[in-house]
Amino acid sequence: MSSPPGARLWDDVAPPTATQPATSAPEQGATAGDMLTVGVIGAGIVGASIACRLAQQGARVRILDAAQPGSGTTSSSFAWVNANQKTPRDYFDLNHAGLEEHVRLPDELQPAIWFHAGGNLIWAETTVDRDELEARVERLRGWGYAAEWWSAAQVNAELEPAVAFPTPETAVAFFPDEAWVDAPQLTGRLVAVARRHGAEVGVGTAVEAIETAGGRVAAIRLRGSARIPVDAVVSAAGPGAERIAALLGLPLPLAPTRGLLVRLAVEGDPVRRVVHSPRVNARPDGRGHLIIHHDLLDRQLRDRHGIHPADPPCDALLRRAREVIPALEAAIVVTARIGVRPIPRDGRACVGAVSAVPGYYEAVTHSGVTLGPLIGRLLAREMLSGEVDPLLAPFRPDRFPRG
Ligand SMILES: Cc1cc2nc3c(=O)[nH]c(=O)nc-3n(C[C@H](O)[C@H](O)[C@H](O)COP(=O)(O)OP(=O)(O)OC[C@H]3O[C@@H](n4cnc5c(N)ncnc54)[C@H](O)[C@@H]3O)c2cc1C
Repeated sequence: MSSPPGARLWDDVAPPTATQPATSAPEQGATAGDMLTVGVIGAGIVGASIACRLAQQGARVRILDAAQPGSGTTSSSFAWVNANQKTPRDYFDLNHAGLEEHVRLPDELQPAIWFHAGGNLIWAETTVDRDELEARVERLRGWGYAAEWWSAAQVNAELEPAVAFPTPETAVAFFPDEAWVDAPQLTGRLVAVARRHGAEVGVGTAVEAIETAGGRVAAIRLRGSARIPVDAVVSAAGPGAERIAALLGLPLPLAPTRGLLVRLAVEGDPVRRVVHSPRVNARPDGRGHLIIHHDLLDRQLRDRHGIHPADPPCDALLRRAREVIPALEAAIVVTARIGVRPIPRDGRACVGAVSAVPGYYEAVTHSGVTLGPLIGRLLAREMLSGEVDPLLAPFRPDRFPRG
C-alpha cells in the first residue's frame, strides 16, 4: 500500500544501535536522552510539547500524526491559559504551574507571537453566580493567585471600553496574569524546535499498532504497514487516546465533550483580552478577528460533528455576543468549528508511565492548552530520568484499572 502525499515513513531508517530503557538514568557524560528512541503519537499542543523537550535533551524522537500538527482539538480551543476554576488543590496547582510555564516560555522561544497577556475578566448576573464568583476569588487569593475586583466603570475606562455591563457599579473580577495563546501557532513552533533538535515528523498516516517484545514497547506500525522500532511510545492522541490504549489491550476511560467555537471578522478592536460574560465568552484572535464561545451552546451540540458558519447555533452565539459588545453589529461569522475535549472520565489529567506495559506513556488531558508546555517538560524528565514530578504524582494513568 502506498503512503498518502505528505506522509514520511521510517522504513528506511536504521534501527538504533543501542537502546536504553525509558526508566533508566543516562550514562555519565551523555545527554539525558542519548540513544532513546521515542515515538510520540499526536502532534497537538501536548504531543508537540513533549516531543520538543525530549528532542532538546537528546532523545531520538519520531512525531507521528494522522493529520497536520495542531489540527486536532488544539485548533478548536478557546485557548485561555488559566487555573481559574480548577479544583481540588492538586489540579489547581498543576494548572497554576501550567500558566507560569507559559509566562516563561516566551523568554526561551523568541519571538513569542503566540502569547497574549492581558488577563481575563469575569462578571455574574444572578445571585447564585455572584456568590460562586466571590467565593472563587477568595479561594484563589488564598492559594496565591492574582485576583482583583474592579467596577464596570473602571474596566470601561482602563481595559475594555466597548464592553456593555449591566451597570457602572457591576463588580468585575479581574485575573491579571491569565492569557490566551494561539495554540496552533505555538504547536507549530514546538514542532519546529523539535525538528531542529533532530526529531522527525511523519504526518498523514495513522498509527495502527504498537508492538511489544518481552512485554515492553518495541515498535509502532503505521497504516500501510511501515514499522518504526522504538524504545518508548507516548500517546498524546487527544480524543484518539482511547483507541491508542486499545491497541495495547488497555482500557482508557474518556468522557469527551464537544464545544462550538465561532470566529468573527470584526471592525477595530472591540475586545482586548479574555472576557467571560454571563452571555458569551470572547477573546481576540489576531487582527480584525474575535473568537466567541458559550457553554450553553455546547450543551446543545450533543453528538453533532460538523457545523457551517450559517447554521443557527453560530447565529445564536453572535446575537449573544452583540448584547455584551454592541460594536459587533457589523461582525460576521467567518468560521465555526466543533472541538472534542479529551477528558479522562474522572475529569483529571492522565500523565505518565503505564506500568502494565513498560515503555508506554500517556498524556491525555482537558485544559491541554494550559497544561501542554508544562506536561512536555515534566514528562520528558520522567521518561529520561525516571523521576516523577510531585505536580504530576496525583495524575498517574495507573489510577485507572488497566485490565
Ligand atoms: C471548545 C473547546 C474549548 C477549549 N478551551 C480551552 C481553554 O480555554 N484552555 C485550555 O487550556 N484548554 C481548552 N480546551 C482543551 C484543549 O483544547 C485540549 O485539552 C487540547 O487541545 C488537547 O491537545 P492534545 O494535543 O492532547 O490533542 P489534539 O490537539 O487533539 O492532538 C491529538 C493529535 O493526535 C492525532 N492522532 C489521534 N489518533 C491518532 C493515530 N491513531 N495516529 C496518529 N495520530 C493520531 C490527531 O490527528 C491530533 O492531531 C478546549 C477544548 C475545546 C474543544
